[in-house]
Amino acid sequence: MDNFNILNSVLFLTKKLIKRKSISPIDNGCQKILIDRLNKLGFVIKLLPSKSTSNFIAWHGNKEPTLAFSGHTDVVGPGNIYNWYFNPFNPTIYNGMLYGRGSVDMKGALSAMIIATEYFLKYNPHHLGTLLFLITSDEESEATNGTIKIVDKLISINKNINYCIIGEPSSIYKLGDNIKNGRRGSLTCNLTIYSKQKHVAYCSILNNPVYQVISIIHQISKIIENLNLSNLMTPPTTFQVINITTNNSYINTTPKRVIIQLNFRFNYKLKVSIIKNKIELLINKYNLDYEINWIVSSNAFISHTGKLLNIVKEAINFYQGIVPSINNNGGTSDGRFINKLGTQIIELGLINKTIHQENECVSIIDLQQLVKIYYRIIENILT
Ligand SMILES: [Zn+2]
Repeated sequence: MDNFNILNSVLFLTKKLIKRKSISPIDNGCQKILIDRLNKLGFVIKLLPSKSTSNFIAWHGNKEPTLAFSGHTDVVGPGNIYNWYFNPFNPTIYNGMLYGRGSVDMKGALSAMIIATEYFLKYNPHHLGTLLFLITSDEESEATNGTIKIVDKLISINKNINYCIIGEPSSIYKLGDNIKNGRRGSLTCNLTIYSKQKHVAYCSILNNPVYQVISIIHQISKIIENLNLSNLMTPPTTFQVINITTNNSYINTTPKRVIIQLNFRFNYKLKVSIIKNKIELLINKYNLDYEINWIVSSNAFISHTGKLLNIVKEAINFYQGIVPSINNNGGTSDGRFINKLGTQIIELGLINKTIHQENECVSIIDLQQLVKIYYRIIENILT
Protein backbone atom coordinates (compact mmCIF):
# COMPACT_ATOMS: atom_id res chain seq x y z
CA MET A 1 0.00 0.00 0.00
CA ASP A 2 1.52 3.31 -0.88
CA ASN A 3 0.56 6.47 0.92
CA PHE A 4 -0.05 8.49 -2.22
CA ASN A 5 -2.73 6.13 -3.50
CA ILE A 6 -4.33 5.63 -0.10
CA LEU A 7 -4.57 9.37 0.46
CA ASN A 8 -6.05 10.04 -2.97
CA SER A 9 -8.61 7.25 -2.64
CA VAL A 10 -9.75 8.16 0.86
CA LEU A 11 -9.97 11.87 0.02
CA PHE A 12 -11.94 11.20 -3.14
CA LEU A 13 -14.53 9.11 -1.30
CA THR A 14 -14.78 11.36 1.76
CA LYS A 15 -15.37 14.42 -0.43
CA LYS A 16 -17.98 12.59 -2.46
CA LEU A 17 -19.87 11.74 0.72
CA ILE A 18 -19.60 15.24 2.21
CA LYS A 19 -21.15 16.70 -0.96
CA ARG A 20 -24.30 14.73 -0.16
CA LYS A 21 -26.16 16.87 2.36
CA SER A 22 -27.37 14.03 4.57
CA ILE A 23 -28.88 15.75 7.58
CA SER A 24 -30.05 13.05 9.99
CA PRO A 25 -31.93 10.81 9.31
CA ILE A 26 -31.92 11.55 5.56
CA ASP A 27 -29.19 9.60 3.77
CA ASN A 28 -29.45 11.51 0.49
CA GLY A 29 -27.62 8.94 -1.61
CA CYS A 30 -24.54 8.38 0.58
CA GLN A 31 -25.29 4.71 1.11
CA LYS A 32 -25.67 4.15 -2.63
CA ILE A 33 -22.07 5.37 -3.02
CA LEU A 34 -20.86 2.87 -0.40
CA ILE A 35 -23.01 0.03 -1.74
CA ASP A 36 -21.70 0.53 -5.29
CA ARG A 37 -18.13 0.12 -4.02
CA LEU A 38 -19.00 -2.91 -1.87
CA ASN A 39 -20.97 -4.52 -4.72
CA LYS A 40 -17.89 -4.37 -6.92
CA LEU A 41 -15.96 -6.22 -4.21
CA GLY A 42 -18.51 -9.03 -4.14
CA PHE A 43 -20.32 -8.10 -0.92
CA VAL A 44 -23.86 -9.35 -0.42
CA ILE A 45 -26.09 -6.36 0.37
CA LYS A 46 -29.26 -6.38 2.41
CA LEU A 47 -31.17 -3.08 2.46
CA LEU A 48 -33.17 -2.38 5.62
CA PRO A 49 -35.00 0.91 5.19
CA SER A 50 -37.17 2.00 8.11
CA LYS A 51 -39.41 5.08 7.81
CA SER A 52 -37.18 7.89 6.52
CA THR A 53 -33.99 6.08 7.59
CA SER A 54 -31.76 4.14 5.22
CA ASN A 55 -29.89 1.14 6.63
CA PHE A 56 -27.96 -1.70 5.10
CA ILE A 57 -25.98 -4.76 6.05
CA ALA A 58 -23.23 -5.97 3.70
CA TRP A 59 -21.12 -9.08 4.11
CA HIS A 60 -18.23 -10.81 2.42
CA GLY A 61 -17.65 -14.42 3.45
CA ASN A 62 -19.85 -16.68 5.46
CA LYS A 63 -17.84 -18.14 8.31
CA GLU A 64 -16.46 -17.10 11.67
CA PRO A 65 -14.65 -15.08 12.88
CA THR A 66 -16.92 -12.17 11.95
CA LEU A 67 -15.63 -8.62 11.97
CA ALA A 68 -18.06 -5.77 11.39
CA PHE A 69 -17.53 -2.10 10.70
CA SER A 70 -20.39 0.00 12.05
CA GLY A 71 -21.05 3.54 10.93
CA HIS A 72 -23.54 6.22 10.00
CA THR A 73 -23.97 8.32 6.89
CA ASP A 74 -26.12 11.02 8.53
CA VAL A 75 -24.68 14.23 9.92
CA VAL A 76 -25.90 16.97 12.24
CA GLY A 77 -26.99 20.30 10.74
CA PRO A 78 -24.30 22.81 9.75
CA GLY A 79 -25.26 25.49 12.29
CA ASN A 80 -24.70 29.00 10.99
CA ILE A 81 -23.34 28.59 7.45
CA TYR A 82 -21.83 32.09 7.59
CA ASN A 83 -19.52 31.03 10.40
CA TRP A 84 -17.90 28.40 8.19
CA TYR A 85 -14.70 29.28 6.34
CA PHE A 86 -15.99 27.19 3.42
CA ASN A 87 -19.38 25.84 2.41
CA PRO A 88 -19.90 22.82 4.74
CA PHE A 89 -21.18 20.71 1.84
CA ASN A 90 -18.44 21.70 -0.56
CA PRO A 91 -15.43 19.85 0.90
CA THR A 92 -12.32 22.01 0.84
CA ILE A 93 -8.71 21.28 1.75
CA TYR A 94 -6.86 24.08 3.46
CA ASN A 95 -3.58 23.79 5.34
CA GLY A 96 -3.63 20.00 5.37
CA MET A 97 -7.17 19.87 6.74
CA LEU A 98 -10.31 18.77 4.91
CA TYR A 99 -13.25 20.97 5.91
CA GLY A 100 -16.86 19.86 5.62
CA ARG A 101 -19.81 18.64 7.66
CA GLY A 102 -19.25 14.97 8.45
CA SER A 103 -15.53 15.02 7.59
CA VAL A 104 -14.86 13.63 11.09
CA ASP A 105 -18.27 12.39 12.22
CA MET A 106 -18.14 10.17 10.33
CA LYS A 107 -17.83 10.24 6.57
CA GLY A 108 -14.04 10.29 6.84
CA ALA A 109 -14.00 7.13 8.93
CA LEU A 110 -16.58 5.44 6.66
CA SER A 111 -14.34 6.16 3.69
CA ALA A 112 -11.31 4.81 5.55
CA MET A 113 -13.23 1.57 6.25
CA ILE A 114 -14.14 1.17 2.57
CA ILE A 115 -10.64 1.91 1.26
CA ALA A 116 -9.07 -0.43 3.83
CA THR A 117 -11.53 -3.13 2.76
CA GLU A 118 -10.72 -2.62 -0.94
CA TYR A 119 -7.01 -3.03 -0.27
CA PHE A 120 -7.59 -5.98 2.00
CA LEU A 121 -9.67 -7.88 -0.55
CA LYS A 122 -7.19 -7.06 -3.31
CA TYR A 123 -4.42 -8.81 -1.37
CA ASN A 124 -6.56 -11.39 0.46
CA PRO A 125 -9.42 -12.43 -1.81
CA HIS A 126 -9.70 -15.78 0.04
CA HIS A 127 -9.67 -14.46 3.60
CA LEU A 128 -10.92 -16.27 6.67
CA GLY A 129 -14.26 -15.49 8.29
CA THR A 130 -16.66 -12.73 7.33
CA LEU A 131 -16.26 -8.99 6.93
CA LEU A 132 -19.44 -6.96 7.44
CA PHE A 133 -20.65 -3.40 7.17
CA LEU A 134 -23.54 -2.23 9.39
CA ILE A 135 -24.54 1.19 8.09
CA THR A 136 -27.36 3.51 9.14
CA SER A 137 -28.52 7.08 8.53
CA ASP A 138 -30.18 7.42 11.93
CA GLU A 139 -27.42 7.85 14.48
CA GLU A 140 -27.47 11.60 15.05
CA SER A 141 -31.23 11.92 15.61
CA GLU A 142 -33.53 9.52 17.44
CA ALA A 143 -31.66 6.31 16.60
CA THR A 144 -35.02 4.53 16.69
CA ASN A 145 -34.88 3.33 13.07
CA GLY A 146 -31.17 2.77 12.68
CA THR A 147 -28.71 0.29 14.14
CA ILE A 148 -31.40 -1.07 16.45
CA LYS A 149 -33.17 -2.40 13.29
CA ILE A 150 -29.91 -3.76 11.92
CA VAL A 151 -29.30 -5.67 15.14
CA ASP A 152 -32.86 -7.07 15.10
CA LYS A 153 -32.24 -8.31 11.57
CA LEU A 154 -28.89 -9.88 12.52
CA ILE A 155 -30.60 -11.72 15.37
CA SER A 156 -33.44 -12.91 13.12
CA ILE A 157 -31.04 -14.34 10.51
CA ASN A 158 -28.74 -15.78 13.18
CA LYS A 159 -25.70 -13.77 12.18
CA ASN A 160 -23.24 -13.62 14.98
CA ILE A 161 -20.80 -10.70 15.20
CA ASN A 162 -17.61 -11.55 17.07
CA TYR A 163 -15.85 -8.20 16.67
CA CYS A 164 -17.06 -4.75 15.78
CA ILE A 165 -15.22 -1.52 15.06
CA ILE A 166 -17.37 1.61 15.30
CA GLY A 167 -15.94 4.56 13.41
CA GLU A 168 -17.08 7.21 15.90
CA PRO A 169 -14.48 9.94 16.48
CA SER A 170 -12.83 8.56 19.60
CA SER A 171 -9.46 10.30 19.30
CA ILE A 172 -8.71 13.39 21.36
CA TYR A 173 -5.39 15.05 20.42
CA LYS A 174 -3.71 12.55 18.14
CA LEU A 175 -5.28 9.92 15.91
CA GLY A 176 -5.61 6.72 17.96
CA ASP A 177 -4.73 8.25 21.33
CA ASN A 178 -8.11 7.16 22.73
CA ILE A 179 -10.57 4.38 22.02
CA LYS A 180 -13.86 3.41 23.68
CA ASN A 181 -15.47 0.14 24.66
CA GLY A 182 -18.60 1.42 26.37
CA ARG A 183 -20.67 4.49 27.09
CA ARG A 184 -22.74 5.93 29.89
CA GLY A 185 -26.52 5.77 29.64
CA SER A 186 -28.92 8.72 29.57
CA LEU A 187 -31.92 9.03 31.87
CA THR A 188 -34.32 11.97 31.91
CA CYS A 189 -36.57 12.83 34.84
CA ASN A 190 -39.61 15.08 34.33
CA LEU A 191 -40.92 16.31 37.64
CA THR A 192 -43.90 18.61 38.26
CA ILE A 193 -44.59 19.91 41.76
CA TYR A 194 -47.99 21.45 42.46
CA SER A 195 -48.82 24.04 45.05
CA LYS A 196 -51.53 26.51 45.98
CA GLN A 197 -51.17 29.90 44.38
CA LYS A 198 -50.88 32.59 47.06
CA HIS A 199 -50.46 36.32 47.31
CA VAL A 200 -46.74 36.96 47.69
CA ALA A 201 -47.34 39.36 50.56
CA TYR A 202 -49.21 36.72 52.59
CA CYS A 203 -47.00 33.73 51.93
CA SER A 204 -44.08 32.03 53.65
CA ILE A 205 -41.34 30.38 51.63
CA LEU A 206 -42.76 27.02 52.72
CA ASN A 207 -45.73 27.58 50.43
CA ASN A 208 -43.62 28.33 47.41
CA PRO A 209 -42.62 25.16 45.51
CA VAL A 210 -39.60 26.86 43.95
CA TYR A 211 -37.80 26.77 47.29
CA GLN A 212 -38.55 23.08 47.64
CA VAL A 213 -37.24 22.40 44.17
CA ILE A 214 -33.99 24.16 44.99
CA SER A 215 -33.59 22.05 48.09
CA ILE A 216 -34.42 18.86 46.18
CA ILE A 217 -31.85 19.60 43.49
CA HIS A 218 -29.24 20.20 46.14
CA GLN A 219 -30.08 16.86 47.81
CA ILE A 220 -30.01 15.03 44.47
CA SER A 221 -26.48 16.22 43.79
CA LYS A 222 -25.44 14.79 47.17
CA ILE A 223 -27.15 11.47 46.40
CA ILE A 224 -25.44 11.18 43.03
CA GLU A 225 -22.09 12.02 44.56
CA ASN A 226 -22.52 9.23 47.09
CA LEU A 227 -23.59 6.75 44.41
CA ASN A 228 -20.59 7.55 42.37
CA LEU A 229 -19.36 4.28 41.11
CA SER A 230 -16.90 4.82 38.35
CA ASN A 231 -14.10 2.76 37.03
CA LEU A 232 -10.92 3.53 35.18
CA MET A 233 -12.63 3.61 31.79
CA THR A 234 -16.12 5.01 32.24
CA PRO A 235 -16.73 8.39 33.91
CA PRO A 236 -18.90 8.52 37.05
CA THR A 237 -22.63 9.18 37.02
CA THR A 238 -23.48 12.86 36.73
CA PHE A 239 -26.65 14.88 36.51
CA GLN A 240 -27.64 18.23 35.06
CA VAL A 241 -30.69 20.42 35.51
CA ILE A 242 -32.01 20.91 31.99
CA ASN A 243 -35.01 23.10 32.70
CA ILE A 244 -36.93 24.78 35.52
CA THR A 245 -40.10 26.66 34.73
CA THR A 246 -43.17 27.91 36.58
CA ASN A 247 -44.98 29.58 33.65
CA ASN A 248 -46.13 32.11 36.22
CA SER A 249 -47.19 35.37 34.58
CA TYR A 250 -48.25 37.28 37.73
CA ILE A 251 -45.88 39.47 39.67
CA ASN A 252 -47.72 39.25 43.00
CA THR A 253 -48.61 35.57 43.11
CA THR A 254 -46.57 32.48 43.92
CA PRO A 255 -46.47 29.82 41.19
CA LYS A 256 -49.00 27.03 41.29
CA ARG A 257 -46.58 24.58 39.80
CA VAL A 258 -42.91 24.11 39.05
CA ILE A 259 -41.79 21.88 36.21
CA ILE A 260 -38.23 20.62 36.29
CA GLN A 261 -36.31 18.41 33.96
CA LEU A 262 -33.16 16.58 34.99
CA ASN A 263 -30.81 14.46 32.93
CA PHE A 264 -28.60 11.76 34.41
CA ARG A 265 -25.64 10.28 32.57
CA PHE A 266 -25.19 7.02 34.37
CA ASN A 267 -22.30 4.65 34.60
CA TYR A 268 -23.01 1.04 33.58
CA LYS A 269 -22.34 0.00 37.18
CA LEU A 270 -25.41 1.87 38.33
CA LYS A 271 -28.89 0.48 37.72
CA VAL A 272 -31.59 2.91 36.54
CA SER A 273 -33.93 1.52 39.22
CA ILE A 274 -31.50 2.55 41.94
CA ILE A 275 -31.40 6.15 40.71
CA LYS A 276 -35.20 6.25 40.42
CA ASN A 277 -35.79 4.77 43.87
CA LYS A 278 -33.37 7.09 45.62
CA ILE A 279 -34.78 10.20 43.95
CA GLU A 280 -38.41 9.24 44.56
CA LEU A 281 -37.68 8.40 48.18
CA LEU A 282 -36.13 11.81 48.60
CA ILE A 283 -39.06 13.65 47.01
CA ASN A 284 -41.54 11.72 49.15
CA LYS A 285 -39.86 13.12 52.26
CA TYR A 286 -41.01 16.58 51.22
CA ASN A 287 -44.68 15.64 51.38
CA LEU A 288 -45.51 17.23 48.05
CA ASP A 289 -48.21 16.94 45.48
CA TYR A 290 -46.17 15.89 42.47
CA GLU A 291 -46.00 13.93 39.26
CA ILE A 292 -42.89 12.26 38.00
CA ASN A 293 -41.97 10.37 34.86
CA TRP A 294 -38.72 8.85 33.71
CA ILE A 295 -37.36 8.28 30.24
CA VAL A 296 -34.34 6.09 29.54
CA SER A 297 -33.07 7.47 26.23
CA SER A 298 -30.15 5.10 26.16
CA ASN A 299 -28.82 2.34 28.32
CA ALA A 300 -25.29 2.28 29.59
CA PHE A 301 -23.12 -0.46 28.17
CA ILE A 302 -19.66 -1.88 28.36
CA SER A 303 -18.29 -4.40 25.90
CA HIS A 304 -16.12 -7.17 27.23
CA THR A 305 -12.52 -6.82 26.22
CA GLY A 306 -10.32 -9.47 24.66
CA LYS A 307 -8.69 -10.22 21.36
CA LEU A 308 -10.11 -7.18 19.55
CA LEU A 309 -8.77 -4.73 22.11
CA ASN A 310 -5.27 -6.15 21.77
CA ILE A 311 -5.42 -6.11 17.98
CA VAL A 312 -6.64 -2.50 17.92
CA LYS A 313 -3.94 -1.41 20.38
CA GLU A 314 -1.27 -3.13 18.32
CA ALA A 315 -2.46 -1.56 15.04
CA ILE A 316 -2.52 1.93 16.54
CA ASN A 317 0.87 1.46 18.09
CA PHE A 318 2.28 0.13 14.81
CA TYR A 319 1.26 3.17 12.75
CA GLN A 320 1.02 5.95 15.32
CA GLY A 321 3.67 4.91 17.84
CA ILE A 322 1.33 5.38 20.79
CA VAL A 323 -0.68 3.20 23.16
CA PRO A 324 -4.32 4.34 23.23
CA SER A 325 -6.14 5.12 26.44
CA ILE A 326 -9.68 3.85 26.96
CA ASN A 327 -11.95 6.67 28.03
CA ASN A 328 -15.67 6.05 27.58
CA ASN A 329 -16.71 9.68 27.93
CA GLY A 330 -19.06 11.64 25.67
CA GLY A 331 -22.64 10.97 24.62
CA THR A 332 -23.93 7.60 23.58
CA SER A 333 -23.25 5.53 20.47
CA ASP A 334 -24.77 2.71 18.44
CA GLY A 335 -22.55 0.36 20.42
CA ARG A 336 -25.43 0.20 22.90
CA PHE A 337 -27.48 -1.77 20.35
CA ILE A 338 -24.66 -3.95 19.02
CA ASN A 339 -23.69 -4.84 22.59
CA LYS A 340 -26.87 -6.96 22.67
CA LEU A 341 -25.09 -9.46 20.41
CA GLY A 342 -22.34 -10.11 22.93
CA THR A 343 -19.85 -8.63 20.46
CA GLN A 344 -16.42 -7.28 21.40
CA ILE A 345 -16.80 -3.62 20.45
CA ILE A 346 -14.20 -0.91 20.04
CA GLU A 347 -14.88 2.63 18.90
CA LEU A 348 -11.92 3.89 16.94
CA GLY A 349 -12.11 6.98 14.80
CA LEU A 350 -10.79 10.44 14.03
CA ILE A 351 -10.05 13.39 16.36
CA ASN A 352 -13.31 14.66 17.85
CA LYS A 353 -12.26 18.28 18.50
CA THR A 354 -14.51 19.85 15.83
CA ILE A 355 -17.45 17.44 15.67
CA HIS A 356 -20.97 18.88 15.70
CA GLN A 357 -19.40 22.34 15.34
CA GLU A 358 -19.00 24.90 12.62
CA ASN A 359 -15.80 24.32 10.62
CA GLU A 360 -15.66 20.58 11.29
CA CYS A 361 -12.38 19.40 9.78
CA VAL A 362 -10.05 16.44 9.61
CA SER A 363 -6.34 16.14 8.99
CA ILE A 364 -5.85 14.49 5.60
CA ILE A 365 -2.87 12.58 6.96
CA ASP A 366 -5.12 11.18 9.70
CA LEU A 367 -7.49 9.88 7.01
CA GLN A 368 -4.59 8.10 5.35
CA GLN A 369 -3.35 6.67 8.66
CA LEU A 370 -6.83 5.50 9.64
CA VAL A 371 -7.06 3.47 6.41
CA LYS A 372 -3.82 1.71 7.38
CA ILE A 373 -4.91 1.10 10.97
CA TYR A 374 -8.26 -0.35 9.84
CA TYR A 375 -6.43 -2.46 7.25
CA ARG A 376 -4.14 -3.93 9.87
CA ILE A 377 -7.07 -4.75 12.15
CA ILE A 378 -8.91 -6.58 9.34
CA GLU A 379 -5.73 -8.41 8.40
CA ASN A 380 -5.05 -9.51 11.95
CA ILE A 381 -8.55 -10.96 12.38
CA LEU A 382 -9.32 -12.38 8.94
CA THR A 383 -6.02 -13.87 7.78
ZN1 LIG B 1 -21.07 9.97 14.89
